[in-house]
Amino acid sequence: MAGGIDRKGARRPTGYGGRDRMLEAYPPVERWDSWTEYDPAAWPRKVSREYMIVPTVCFNCEAACGLTAYVDKESFEVRKLEGNPHHPGSRGRNCAKGPATINQIHDPERILYPQRRKGPRGSGEWERVSWDHVLDTFAERMHDAFAAGTPNDVLYFVGRPGEDGFADRFLETWGSDGHNSHTNVCSSGGRAGYGFWSGTDRPSPDYANARFTLLISAHLESGHYFNPHAQRIIESQQRGGKIAVMDPRLSNTASMADYWLPTWPGSEGAVLLAIAKVLLDEGLYDAEFVRRWVNWRTYLEHRSPASEPTFANFIGELRKEYAQYTPEFAEAESGLPAQTIVAVAREIAAAAPAFSSHIWRAAAAGNLHGWQITRCVMLLNALTGSVGAVGGTSPNAWNKFIPAPWKKPSANEQWNELNWPREYPLAHNEMSFLYPHLLEDGRGTQPVLFTRVLNPIWTYPDGYSWLRALRDESKVGLHAALTPTWSETAWWADYVLPMGHGPERHDTHSYESYSGRWLGFRQPVQRVAMEKLGHEVEFTYEANPGEVWEEGEFWIEVSWRADPDGSLGIRQYYESPYRPGEKIRLEEYYRWMFENSVPGLPEKAAAEGLDPLGYMRRYGAVEISRDEYSQHETEVEDPGETDVLGREATLTKRSFDPGHLPLTGRPDTVATVVEGTPRQGFNTPSRKLELYSETLAEWGWPEFAVPSYARSHVHPSLIDHERGEYVLLPTYRLPTLIHSRSGNAKYLNELSHTHPLLVCPEDAERIGLETGGLARVETEIGWFVIKALVTEGIRPGIVAASHHMGRWRLKEDKGNERWSSALVDMAEVGDTVSFRQLHGVEPWQSEDPSSERVWWSDAGVHQNITFPVHPDPVSGMHCWHQKVRVGPAREGDRYADIHVDHARARDAYRRWLTLTRPADGELRRPIWLFRPVKPVLSAYDLPADDATMAARAARERGEGGWGVSGLDMASVVDWSPEEVWGPGPQAPPPR
Ligand code: SF4
Repeated sequence: MAGGIDRKGARRPTGYGGRDRMLEAYPPVERWDSWTEYDPAAWPRKVSREYMIVPTVCFNCEAACGLTAYVDKESFEVRKLEGNPHHPGSRGRNCAKGPATINQIHDPERILYPQRRKGPRGSGEWERVSWDHVLDTFAERMHDAFAAGTPNDVLYFVGRPGEDGFADRFLETWGSDGHNSHTNVCSSGGRAGYGFWSGTDRPSPDYANARFTLLISAHLESGHYFNPHAQRIIESQQRGGKIAVMDPRLSNTASMADYWLPTWPGSEGAVLLAIAKVLLDEGLYDAEFVRRWVNWRTYLEHRSPASEPTFANFIGELRKEYAQYTPEFAEAESGLPAQTIVAVAREIAAAAPAFSSHIWRAAAAGNLHGWQITRCVMLLNALTGSVGAVGGTSPNAWNKFIPAPWKKPSANEQWNELNWPREYPLAHNEMSFLYPHLLEDGRGTQPVLFTRVLNPIWTYPDGYSWLRALRDESKVGLHAALTPTWSETAWWADYVLPMGHGPERHDTHSYESYSGRWLGFRQPVQRVAMEKLGHEVEFTYEANPGEVWEEGEFWIEVSWRADPDGSLGIRQYYESPYRPGEKIRLEEYYRWMFENSVPGLPEKAAAEGLDPLGYMRRYGAVEISRDEYSQHETEVEDPGETDVLGREATLTKRSFDPGHLPLTGRPDTVATVVEGTPRQGFNTPSRKLELYSETLAEWGWPEFAVPSYARSHVHPSLIDHERGEYVLLPTYRLPTLIHSRSGNAKYLNELSHTHPLLVCPEDAERIGLETGGLARVETEIGWFVIKALVTEGIRPGIVAASHHMGRWRLKEDKGNERWSSALVDMAEVGDTVSFRQLHGVEPWQSEDPSSERVWWSDAGVHQNITFPVHPDPVSGMHCWHQKVRVGPAREGDRYADIHVDHARARDAYRRWLTLTRPADGELRRPIWLFRPVKPVLSAYDLPADDATMAARAARERGEGGWGVSGLDMASVVDWSPEEVWGPGPQAPPPR
């Protein structure tokens, strides 16, 4: 990370941003419009260059750190990108991926012009077309769908959104429930667990002020909001705070920790509940906080209805509930020593309420019931009163700000069952990774599909099912891939439309970096520089390389053309607030937002003689507030006409007609009465922290109503080492790579270009592997061949391979960049597909001389395509961990060989579907639960159709998913490598 270090060793007092003496290393903002530096490429001559420094925001992960682009004032080329010291979240610092944005901009293989396929899908023949042709083609199809009242015919399927609210708005203007996202292969397990507790789906740990930090993932190197969080975690450690990291792999983060806790994957919940038991048994909980803010009356009502509803009785019952989770039980499940678990519990209690915790991907994304692990983490914060406190963990809603746009459309009236199938009524996000299976089941078709920064053939599990679906024109009618780069998925599209990288587009962002709120402004830096120097630019593509559009302008333009006369009611949302009746310019969209929706910004701007847009153009970010602690205690002074309902004295709006809705389904709660005072509380139905979730109980999962431990699909009892079986962790990330987009960053590929399978020494001996030796890893639907790395950095019984590598292309000079991808041969036989590398990464000729100096060759192995879908029946999260059989490569195997059987993929999908407990009542899903782009309430009504009746009858008979309970799930999710792939190879005898 560059900059931001006080050379005299003084530490920052808190986690804030802002200006201080540490900014001396950066050019002063007063000189950003005219900054002179010597050109390092001209050395040893002294050639000075004049730059305009334009702030923008990084797009290479979700943290949205500030960047400054050095735009050459003569050529308008971007020469380099550095940190933005005025960004409150990142404070001038970046990880390697931030400055590497320059590679993405200058990549000689980037897509510069819109492309249309010429031959059949996937044939790889493309022709350049005009943007007018593209816009008219799609606008016509969209108009037809909207005019016919079938707006869900148009689907927007997004990988990395990189913005807050723009997409939601254009979907609402279309009246479409057409939002699908990658979240269920990423963070639904984390989100659902937080959501059931607090009604807010992300945590905001106040790391900078924590005295003890518990991380269940690799935050310091690759975690969520990575760089802004990592710098604050280290600050707390430098002040004496302690860190514990739960991870079977010795990550860089674990290596910095005071406690490395290498749990068996999926056993984390047992350890966390054992910690909770210690807190309860030793009286180390915060009784006052729990009494005021946990829904203990509801808990008692359900768990011990005969008990008098006293807090003492609640604590007694809770101790009984968790009595089974002794440290010794947790040791047996996890492999961690019981005394370590007790020691961590006491450290947490001593640090409270300055106890920060975080789980996001990792265990929550790897395991069946992973979302319950999240609930167990949050239980520790609730018990110790470390919620909303200085150094504790708050709901992210307190530290995130989304400004309202001009002219908000009303909610749509649709429900899209391809995105929200009724089997998953509690799924946190769209069931995106089941999409090809739902299409294959005949549940619908997709006349118009926009994929946006999305590469499911490579990133998702079961990519071959995606390939088959995207190739089939009877399933997907017209597919445009909106992408800055070529990808395995773009290859099968009808149109490939180049969209701008981070410094080539406008967006706003706000994330929970610390206990305050900030808003960042991504801007197209070349356009801004040109306009500041007096050039007129109507559309950003005029300033960007080639004809690379920015998406905001694309959506405005295509929506306008889809409703040219305004008769569909769409065009009104794209008319300028400043020039009535005329098409809005993107600059006006943000100008209105900054002038009207960002508290304090107009005043800050005026103090510097700027208008609000001018301020954001100059600094790239604004801090809105600090010290957002204890908001749940906020008194609600005028709750309006309300009723007090339920055991937790919840205030609900009298104006709302609840109809048939129980309290758990109502979206109209405003406060909870605590000791006679209405207080804001949390975003749950009760406005309390919901230790007991009536929502889970009412929607078919009473056994999971409280945070509990349930065995994962990779529990040790399902893994037979004697038969060569292991658990594969495919989820860990490299700090220097970004799924699909880092392929175009030569600096990053030079840093990271190996893809080993981590194996511990005793397992390597058992299998007969040495470092560099080839292993065949068999999954339930296929297998892959990878090189081993023997290391003590992974616990026995587990093998691991990074999520980041294995890029491929089907033609030598097209379809993917050549900095990271291999040329492969794809062979389909019946329902199976095999890939064989023809060659790895090689030097090649391009306008960038670096391409001839490429010295690395390993493109890695595309492991994800060999994984079946594993939908968690509650959160909907894809459970990434795999039971695998690992053996030495077999005769004829070559590095990076892949084989997948689609019939087996279908079988695994169907089996996991039987775990579900479908909606069969009046609603499709609880109304209060988070949903991106929520439709109107009436859209939640579940039709009393054949499917509903069948689900209801199955439940009453105790059949289907409803008949499977708790640990019986193991029999559904287990599989036998020997049955599928025959006897394993004979490993050599131990040496
Ligand atoms: S942490 Fe993320 S947003 Fe920040 S510089 Fe790195 S890639 Fe960019």
